[in-house]
Amino acid sequence: MSAAENPDLQQELKSAVAELCRAFPDSYWRELDSRRGYPEAFVQTLTKAGYMATLIPEEYGGAGMGITEAATILEEIHRSGGNAAACHAQMYVMGTLLRHGSENQKKKYLPALARGELRLQAFGVSEPTTGSDTTQMKTFARRTGNNYIVKGQKIWISRAEHSDLMLLVARTTPIEQVKKRSDGLSVLLVDLRDAKNRGLTIRPIRTMMNHATTEVFFDDVEVPAENLIGEEGQGFRYLLDGLNAERILIAAECIGDGRWFLERACRYAKERVVFGRPIGQNQGIQFPLARAYANVEAASLMVEKAAALFDAHQPCGPQANMAKLLAADASWESANATLQTYGGFGFAEEYDVERKFRETRLYQVAPVSTNLILSYIAEHVLGLPRSY
Ligand SMILES: Cc1cc2nc3c(=O)[nH]c(=O)nc-3n(C[C@H](O)[C@H](O)[C@H](O)COP(=O)(O)OP(=O)(O)OC[C@H]3O[C@@H](n4cnc5c(N)ncnc54)[C@H](O)[C@@H]3O)c2cc1C
Repeated sequence: MSAAENPDLQQELKSAVAELCRAFPDSYWRELDSRRGYPEAFVQTLTKAGYMATLIPEEYGGAGMGITEAATILEEIHRSGGNAAACHAQMYVMGTLLRHGSENQKKKYLPALARGELRLQAFGVSEPTTGSDTTQMKTFARRTGNNYIVKGQKIWISRAEHSDLMLLVARTTPIEQVKKRSDGLSVLLVDLRDAKNRGLTIRPIRTMMNHATTEVFFDDVEVPAENLIGEEGQGFRYLLDGLNAERILIAAECIGDGRWFLERACRYAKERVVFGRPIGQNQGIQFPLARAYANVEAASLMVEKAAALFDAHQPCGPQANMAKLLAADASWESANATLQTYGGFGFAEEYDVERKFRETRLYQVAPVSTNLILSYIAEHVLGLPRSY
């Protein structure tokens, strides 16, 4: 029986992750944040405990669990004050390989990923000149004999420096030669270790939070044709397939953030005495926290619903998008209410509120911006005309 069907197992999973996270307290994340360091020890521990192999089927050495369990793990990391951005992509990127990879590819990579000998943490979609309009991407993979030759540039490719493999989306047929603009894109598994000395350059981008994100340049990088995932030209379909998992898992992280903020804010509001009484006695402090709490709990139900549909192989596009929208809004609302509750101390690094505030703000923009989710709901759920 999966943890999704059994609340006790779900609780056990949560407690086990919380226990693991206790070894990585606020000071660990704060120190890394100050120097934009990668949480190598945390990722190693998570991998050794088998959590990075949550979605890998048992036959390939993984835990064979679903998105519900993966969401529980990521939520708990965030609720404990950590940041799963260092490694979450391995969970949602894996799905593309699982669903569309050949048996040979699965046998070659999945057991090594499950053992922690390989990392598949980089996902190469975004480009500097095309933004959210993914089908306009310029990176091109030209087939020559047994190889693809990749030329182009990606931006915001997180963890590229800390991953062995990258799932790359590139054009394989020029956009002028396809019927639909979403045709002619393909997914390639790029071995970054090989490519680094053969035309691939990775440049870190320093951002407002610690996220190990980079620019990646492909200057005629050879990728063996056997690393093509699924059929050539069908990459956009595979990409969409994986996006629901990504939205659900990021939403779960936002729920974890929201819970972390509210727990800290309530604790502080009870302890901080101003005008002779705890600030939490004032409705001006209570109401924003109570409202944020209600929104986190409501968003959490949508995350659970989306994950359950995903695991039951049911269509879940609307629910996954709504989960991401509601959870990102709720965590951001909680972040704001918490910063306000802490007053001046909220801005001091040692309380971690400003760090988490910066971290959770990202999810209004990435991996998909709030506007694009609203456009999706308007068009695909409400049947309104496409706006772009
Ligand atoms: C820290 C970080 C890590 C990331 N990691 C990765 C990664 O690992 N791999 C990867 O491929 N990408 C990654 N991304 C990229 C991320 O997915 C994009 O930033 C995001 O999808 C938004 O695209 P953009 O930045 O190009 O914004 P743009 O598309 O330029 O949009 C800018 C603004 O305009 C709005 N907008 C655009 N079009 C419309 C419209 N039609 N209607 C209404 N509003 C619109 C958007 O909502 C947004 O607010 C990351 C980004 C960041 C910041």
